[in-house]
Amino acid sequence: MTDSPASAPVLVLIDKVTAGGPPLAEGETGWHVVDAHEPVIDVADLGVTRGDGVFEGLGVADGAIQALEPHLRRLARSAAMLDLPELDLDVVREACLASARLHAPAPFLLQKLVVTRGVEGGDGTPTAWVRTDAMPDHSHERRDGIAVVALDRGYRHDVAQTSPWLLQGAKTLSYAVNKSVLREAARRGADDVIFVSSDGYALEGPSASLIARFGDRFVTPSTDQGILEGTTQAAVFETLEALGHKTAYELLPMESVRAADALWLASSGRQISPISSLDGVPVAFDRDFSQDLADAMEARRD
Ligand code: PLP
Repeated sequence: MTDSPASAPVLVLIDKVTAGGPPLAEGETGWHVVDAHEPVIDVADLGVTRGDGVFEGLGVADGAIQALEPHLRRLARSAAMLDLPELDLDVVREACLASARLHAPAPFLLQKLVVTRGVEGGDGTPTAWVRTDAMPDHSHERRDGIAVVALDRGYRHDVAQTSPWLLQGAKTLSYAVNKSVLREAARRGADDVIFVSSDGYALEGPSASLIARFGDRFVTPSTDQGILEGTTQAAVFETLEALGHKTAYELLPMESVRAADALWLASSGRQISPISSLDGVPVAFDRDFSQDLADAMEARRD
């Protein structure tokens, strides 16, 4: 089935993904647009066969990519953690901008930026692309909140220090576990998950950062625990600070989370959604305050 032009995804392949090497010739961009429905990825690509690579998911609001620079920095950090070659972020940035620009106008789009270790047996050049497509509708989550369950991630909170080879805290393509926990959540009648370290600290969702409210203090788990630095959570904190609230990055024992005044999951796709229950226990949420935060997140244009 072909998409109507208004919803057709825009796929940009990034040819010059690594830094160094010969500079681009006059008129060369280092990327090119391909038909999103044509087969372009080698089946021996290590991203496909091993999930060996990194990615970012970026929101595009009225054509503007939200938090592009924080996403690029995180991509570079993830790539470094996987010992991938240093990326040419200037080319990657231009490819992202082009992919957003070439899509038919829409209030909100989702962009997936992927860098793999390249084709098995090849010369080690990463494969990279950026694809802009429709954003799934998350409005019901924002309105009604989400039911979450706490699931053990099986690693201590200091796993990033003790076992860096486990790549906790890198945004790798190996998201089978992040998807499996959603099926476990569904089996328990919930929509989403809070990962908990084996020593009892709340970490993050499988595709979102956790924010907890205690009075006028807003806390997110500190990012040295093998979790991602959320670009949306950072923007939420900026908004909260501008409103005069205190914010903090801390170790957050699960008992504290259960006693919080309010909880949210924040990510580029959903922006920010209130949590309405945790392990079947209702969690209060202020609908108007949550909606104001979501509106502020959606209004971001850089
Ligand atoms: N934590 C994980 C594991 C994620 O996959 C994501 C986003 O996909 C986030 C947190 C939130 O990050 P961001 O707000 O930058 O989208």
